[in-house]
Amino acid sequence: MNDRLIGILGGGQLGRMLALAGYPLGLRFRFLDPASDAPVRYLAEQVVASYEDHLAVAQFGNGLMVATYEFENVPVATARALEQRVPVFPPPQALEVAQDRLAEKRFFTQLNIPTAPFAPVDDRASLDAAVERIGLPAILKTRRLGYDGKGQAVIRQRADIDDAWRALGGQPLILEGFVSFVRELSILAVRGQDGAVACYPLVENLHRNGILYRSIAPAPGLSADVQLLAETYARQVLEALDYVGVLAIEMFEVDPAHTGATGARLLANEMAPRVHNSGHWTIEGAVTSQFENHLRAIAGLPLGDTSARGCAAMVNLIGGLPDAMMLLALPDTHLHLYDKAPRPGRKLGHVTVCAGDATRLAERLAVVEQYVLASTR
Ligand code: AMP
Repeated sequence: MNDRLIGILGGGQLGRMLALAGYPLGLRFRFLDPASDAPVRYLAEQVVASYEDHLAVAQFGNGLMVATYEFENVPVATARALEQRVPVFPPPQALEVAQDRLAEKRFFTQLNIPTAPFAPVDDRASLDAAVERIGLPAILKTRRLGYDGKGQAVIRQRADIDDAWRALGGQPLILEGFVSFVRELSILAVRGQDGAVACYPLVENLHRNGILYRSIAPAPGLSADVQLLAETYARQVLEALDYVGVLAIEMFEVDPAHTGATGARLLANEMAPRVHNSGHWTIEGAVTSQFENHLRAIAGLPLGDTSARGCAAMVNLIGGLPDAMMLLALPDTHLHLYDKAPRPGRKLGHVTVCAGDATRLAERLAVVEQYVLASTR
């Protein structure tokens, strides 16, 4: 066993940023990813193979100190097989829950964490029954493999039901009540092998076409009790799964006057058992980045301080790249490129801008967004 070698399932930008955070700690990395042009290809050893290739997975696991994932659709069976050879964090059960929107919503409900109303949909009759129960508007989603708004259809009125069924029917689905949220927030939390937990300040997220476009941290106007509530939910999830590593929970902030008898203020939408796009700001904006803290947790090291250094905003670079000369001339502005070939709708990098106060951050962000929007495809 190499006591410094960490195996990561998935070799995308999250893996790349994990490795970049791990080298100063003296860690080494081995990746498993089916793509030979994965963003980690120049960064570390890579096994190029399918996640279902048992022989390759065994070879990948050989001599690792610990294995983790940066891609949440890694087959659970692969994570469990790996667990026979080396410790795997976060626990594969977290992967199992997060891969199925229905299991995830049921898991939140068991923990008394409020969610949008939901119902399983397996055939046309159960879709009609679910619409009857939940009401409209609602969102029909695939239970598995949906990400960045893919595999979803909004049903605004009864006339939309047929179209939604035609688009998505024939696979396990879930119908969710449409939440008229005030804004979207996410909480990133980390749990160490000794059970210590640390939470980052809540982040405000703006999605466009179902893809995260921008995060602001700490979320503007954040009240201490909403932060505490989100932390309570995160801790419950972490404890229930005996979790080790970074976990993200995406939530809707709602007006309690509109959530009826429950009076809920935060509704959990989904969780990611890995480092998360809404935590990229932590590289420059927090005392310890989410990437470093994930590695500290899975390597059995003490967790680092999760406090924000000031105010930060992160903007994703989607489909095209802005002019680096212009961007990097701006104060406290940081460019991260993932070494991916441009394609419309593809996340190619991100920009983080920091400032000492919210007013200055808003000024800087407006300029950054101008450059970024001009290049987005
Ligand atoms: P998801 O794949 O569940 O993260 O959904 C992608 C985006 O669609 C979310 O970030 C929201 O902006 C929107 N969305 C998802 N579910 C709902 C819902 N139940 N009500 C309103 N908007 C939603």
